[in-house]
Amino acid sequence: MIQNQIKFGWKAILWGKKRPFVFLFLLIVGVISPITPVNGTIGKPKWGFWAHQRINRLAIFTLPPEMLIFFKKHADYITENAVNPDKRRYAVAGEAARHYIDLEAYGDSAAYKLPLYWQEAVQKYGEDTLALNGVVPWAIQQYKSRLTEAFRQRDPRRILRLSADLGHYIADANVPLHTTHNYNGQLTGQEGIHAFWESRLPELFADNYDGFVGAATYESKVAKRAWQAVQQANAALDSVLRFERELSSRLPANQKYALEDRNGIVIKTYSREFSARYHQMLSQQVERQFRASAKMIGDFWFTCWVDAGQPDLTPLGNFSLTETDQQEAITEKQSWLKKLFTARSEGEN
Ligand SMILES: [Zn+2]
Repeated sequence: MIQNQIKFGWKAILWGKKRPFVFLFLLIVGVISPITPVNGTIGKPKWGFWAHQRINRLAIFTLPPEMLIFFKKHADYITENAVNPDKRRYAVAGEAARHYIDLEAYGDSAAYKLPLYWQEAVQKYGEDTLALNGVVPWAIQQYKSRLTEAFRQRDPRRILRLSADLGHYIADANVPLHTTHNYNGQLTGQEGIHAFWESRLPELFADNYDGFVGAATYESKVAKRAWQAVQQANAALDSVLRFERELSSRLPANQKYALEDRNGIVIKTYSREFSARYHQMLSQQVERQFRASAKMIGDFWFTCWVDAGQPDLTPLGNFSLTETDQQEAITEKQSWLKKLFTARSEGEN
């Protein structure tokens, strides 16, 4: 039961940055608004981490045959583990900050003015300030370097793990609500919009998205590309908030929300009509960001491999995780859950 609650909660509301207690409270009392289980229990959703997983999988098929030989074999691993960074969000120090950047903290046009590179940013603002306001564009660069190194070492475990992680951060950087302090519409009376935009909408409509995003291409300006993703995501933020507000003012609440059966559990969620109209108003914005994420992930994986000297991955093609590897992964994931429940309020204010 707890396990199922956690699985549901991650995607539904876990957009707070330092709110493990709020999160736990919501789980315990079963109040996850606006996606609320009517009978007080929460079931495992079919779509929990759906978008991240779908994006990572899509990215695999942008790769050239020399990489596909390895990545395709481990497509399930890279897909399933696309969501690890969210799962360990409160369990691993420094993790939460890697998923977002609150641009408002740095004034006007911050996405164009902030230092491209981490060291410069640290010199200018200090690590504490940066960690407080999120570090996603720099995290992408850091994980790009780590993955390049893993390719150099021809270390299949690290390649898999870091590819899955890097895919997650890149996808996050492409989400408009990951670039703002108003990440869940909480400052504008639009609570719930985060999961609405990046879970509910893809769940309903991504089957119609164009899955061909082209072949991965080499990215010579990694830092710049990471920032471009943030700039483009942030440029879309105004529409994300404005259209939801406009549509909400036109539709009564009983048409905005609906009760849906999810694996035998009745939950309150955004109605299909509201979702369809909002999705249409956004004019393929979700699809654009979805596809841009997959393409960028493919480009970055490919670039890491090229920068590592294009190692022959054929010998790694036969690699498979041992039972010990798999058991260790399970134990690690359980420890993330455990730490979530024993989280202390350090950093809360
Ligand atoms: Zn994330």
